[in-house]
Amino acid sequence: MTRTYGRKIAVILTTVSMIAAAVPGCGQGKYEKMEVASEETIGEMPEAEESGQVKMSAAEKAGEGAQPEISPSDRERAMAPAPAFTDVSDTVYIKGNQVRLRTAPDTGDDQNIAAVVNIGTALTRTGDSDDWCRINYQGQILYVSKGLVSSQQPQTTQETSAAAQTTVSQSGVSQISLDAGWKYADFSAIKSGTATLYRSESAGRKGITVCVNAGHGTSGGGSVKTQCHPDGTPKVTGGTTGAGATKAIAVSSGMTFLDGTPEAKVTLALAKVFKEKLLAAGYDVLMIREGDDVQLDNIARTVLANNMADCHIALHWDSTENNKGAFFMSVPNVASYRAMEPVASNWQKHQALGENLVAGLKGAGVKIFSGGSMEMDLTQTSYSTVPSIDIELGDKASDHSAGTLDVLASGLLAGVNGYFGKE
Ligand SMILES: [Zn+2]
Repeated sequence: MTRTYGRKIAVILTTVSMIAAAVPGCGQGKYEKMEVASEETIGEMPEAEESGQVKMSAAEKAGEGAQPEISPSDRERAMAPAPAFTDVSDTVYIKGNQVRLRTAPDTGDDQNIAAVVNIGTALTRTGDSDDWCRINYQGQILYVSKGLVSSQQPQTTQETSAAAQTTVSQSGVSQISLDAGWKYADFSAIKSGTATLYRSESAGRKGITVCVNAGHGTSGGGSVKTQCHPDGTPKVTGGTTGAGATKAIAVSSGMTFLDGTPEAKVTLALAKVFKEKLLAAGYDVLMIREGDDVQLDNIARTVLANNMADCHIALHWDSTENNKGAFFMSVPNVASYRAMEPVASNWQKHQALGENLVAGLKGAGVKIFSGGSMEMDLTQTSYSTVPSIDIELGDKASDHSAGTLDVLASGLLAGVNGYFGKE
């Protein structure tokens, strides 16, 4: 996906659905949330960044599957003469979300991003050219691509207007879509959903992003298959999909606890508790799922983590019924599997993360199964380029009360701290 200057951009009006207090699990007011109903990216939608503080691009982090932020055409344009502006004085409205306001009319330089604003934001326009508007925003003279504004106030719901106002205050929350240019994104079959990136507002912010992946919860995910390994080789262990298969269910529905609670409900509940603890401890958090359904299969989730996070932790409970305890799915000790990329370059990091998580859980008093791990050839592992673990917090017979989830989240946080060498 090359960002070509002057390209006509179909701006899809997105629905911003809510913020802060309106949202369960998000009522702190500290981590305001913006939800974009459409996966469509708009214009110059950033991967994930906050005003004045450009997050390291996904590609930079991953070191692969990268696409340059600056295309050749951007470079040429950066050297082009500045556009001529006709003085005007009127009001324009931002048409989409995550729209960048810049100190210069130039998309080839991300250093010039002064603010990121959302749909419905009203701006006083002082200058007009073929491709850019010069605007006043909070006392600054800034520029916005003309295709991203309208002289008509966008049709929005009440919630949308409220969200637009709130997000102007830069809450540090972004919706992240799967970028088709990211490595392995092509292997995903269900990818229209978005993950949510939360920026820690803790004084001790660490600059480390943890992807919290609440296992399961993709409607229709059981009827679609994806390739087990990027190179097309068959699975080397059994599991939900048998050994020898080259394709596996894109996202399974998960098990049901003996008390009748679906696993997907419990993984989500734990994810929310874990998220709050991580943010409070200074970690940024990429939440893959925050409701009962996110249209992101296991490969999409993995690719999002690869590009937007420093590690990936998928939360699960196992389907046995004997309350056997927690463990992580370890990388199978099979030569061909450990020699296959991206496993070859990353499996030792996966193992180290898993061992730290289990140590953290053990330290919190959580029962641990056997040696704390079980070898499993997982789609997640097979596509991960950051330290990545499927952790099984127990099984169908395990207690999953709020008190237990809090203990599990504390143990997982201790494990993350252990892995990254942080307090
Ligand atoms: Zn599961």
